[in-house]
Amino acid sequence: MLGLMQDWPLLCHRIIDHAAEMHGNREVVSRSVEGPIHRTDYRTIRERSLKVAQRLDRMGVRVGDRIGTLAWNTWRHLEVWYGLLGVGAVYHTVNPRLFPDQIAYIVNHAEDRLMFTDLTFLPLVEKLAEHLPLLEKVIVLTDAANMPETGLANAVAYEDWLAEADGDFAWKTFDENTAAGMCYTSGTTGHPKGVVYSHRSNVLHSMAVNQPDMLGLSSRDIMMPVVPMFHANGWSIAFSAPMTGTTMVMPGAKMDGASIYELLDTEKVSVTAAVPTVWLMLLQFLDGSDHQLPHLERVIIGGAACPRAMTAAFQKKYDVDVLHAWGMTEMSPLGTICSLKPEYAGLEGDARLDIQEKQGHAPFSIEMKITDDYDIEQDWDGKTFGRLKVRGPAIAKAYFKGEGGEILDDAGYFDTGDVAHIDPYGYMQITDRAKDVIKSGGEWISTIDLENIAVGHPDVAEAAVIGVAHPKWDERPLLVVVAKDGCTPTRDGLIDYMQDKVAKWWLPNDVVVVDEIPHTATGKIQKTTLREQFKDYTFPDA
Ligand code: ADP
Repeated sequence: MLGLMQDWPLLCHRIIDHAAEMHGNREVVSRSVEGPIHRTDYRTIRERSLKVAQRLDRMGVRVGDRIGTLAWNTWRHLEVWYGLLGVGAVYHTVNPRLFPDQIAYIVNHAEDRLMFTDLTFLPLVEKLAEHLPLLEKVIVLTDAANMPETGLANAVAYEDWLAEADGDFAWKTFDENTAAGMCYTSGTTGHPKGVVYSHRSNVLHSMAVNQPDMLGLSSRDIMMPVVPMFHANGWSIAFSAPMTGTTMVMPGAKMDGASIYELLDTEKVSVTAAVPTVWLMLLQFLDGSDHQLPHLERVIIGGAACPRAMTAAFQKKYDVDVLHAWGMTEMSPLGTICSLKPEYAGLEGDARLDIQEKQGHAPFSIEMKITDDYDIEQDWDGKTFGRLKVRGPAIAKAYFKGEGGEILDDAGYFDTGDVAHIDPYGYMQITDRAKDVIKSGGEWISTIDLENIAVGHPDVAEAAVIGVAHPKWDERPLLVVVAKDGCTPTRDGLIDYMQDKVAKWWLPNDVVVVDEIPHTATGKIQKTTLREQFKDYTFPDA
């Protein structure tokens, strides 16, 4: 017997319909790439998205066609997403921070027909154009007044292109399993691989991660996604904010501390989200001022481990709650968020910070397990760590064009490549990437734990730990740090500081101070480059 409920496909563009109808006057505020602050609302975004859809339809864009975007978070990028979703095309967000030849590779691999680009990236597209034979048109997200001279024969200013449509158009409808978006993983080895979201997976994911214990957005919130839409499906915020009628503040191209602070303050942002590097810049900026964050209630920090010192600074100095989050491109991308269940809600001070170092618990629709090297499931005792595997309706089952082959185990779980433990209340804590973990004398040392401790030292701005070959122990930890302005951290000072915070055999064998630690295109510490940099290093005791 089947249920007798309506067939209402879970299509992404229904989200902007809902936002326009129920929260039509709620604002979307952007720092435009041209400079000035731009204000619009969900009703207008929907109207203009319909024009985008109409224009694309007229150009012959059909269900399943891929369309690239090289763009910051602005209202125009949002309109383009919803417009192309509404004709069944697939948004392919390209991370402009990748190497140019990687960009050419993924645009060709995805077979993008069109490219929407911000002014910032026009020179990049011009440079790559001869390597992008499939690209029919480049639409520059600006108006005629700001459109620069370009050597590209097929470039047009977005506002001119859009003006050719009247918006009298109806969204297409199709199966909810139709592809909606694509995002390539950075791929530290080999080529980047394409993750393909469906309309259904995006809608389900946005609902799952928007529950009160997760992002918990509401029509009373003012959300600033600093995390770019091109990073891991934009953490779903382009869907979960309109879905709940949350005001959006889009930071555009400027993510330095002063610019972020300015928007937090003038737009009275209540919740924001980004990787730790962004918050490092903000906290450093605030450090040298007497600014406070009176409007900000919570900050979602993920993409890399959130250092304890960062959580403490937000909470103690600025009275802003930190929600540590974990996820990955393959998971749409959010997997867990560290909100406090009753068992932990009463904790204060260090005990609270101990829990907040965990990446948190998963919402309904994400199943987790940890396994050892023989695929045996491990207990959730908060200590025993193993490979973290996940299953659910918004988790990849394969990569685009079958790259990487079979990626699920026999039970349908995806191996995240992370090493973690889970406590009895379901709080997961990442201890490392499987490929970064240090194997010392047959035992595993977590580089993330060591980094978190090292950045707690008052002289340290950033820290990275890598395994370096050691004649006796196979590998031992080398701590690489960047000093805070005007500070001179020393080896002995740091080891002394870490002494009572970890097991003795985990202590780094040496400390090196560098000017800069290399980062990936998504702002994470690039361990491969760092290992390469220190490949000839030998420990003083080796
Ligand atoms: P990219 O490297 O392109 O940013 P992802 O965003 O998919 O790709 O990266 C996902 C990985 O980032 C996770 O598998 C995990 O290793 C790491 N990660 C994400 N969030 C956290 C976190 N809160 N703590 C530790 N590691 C994290």
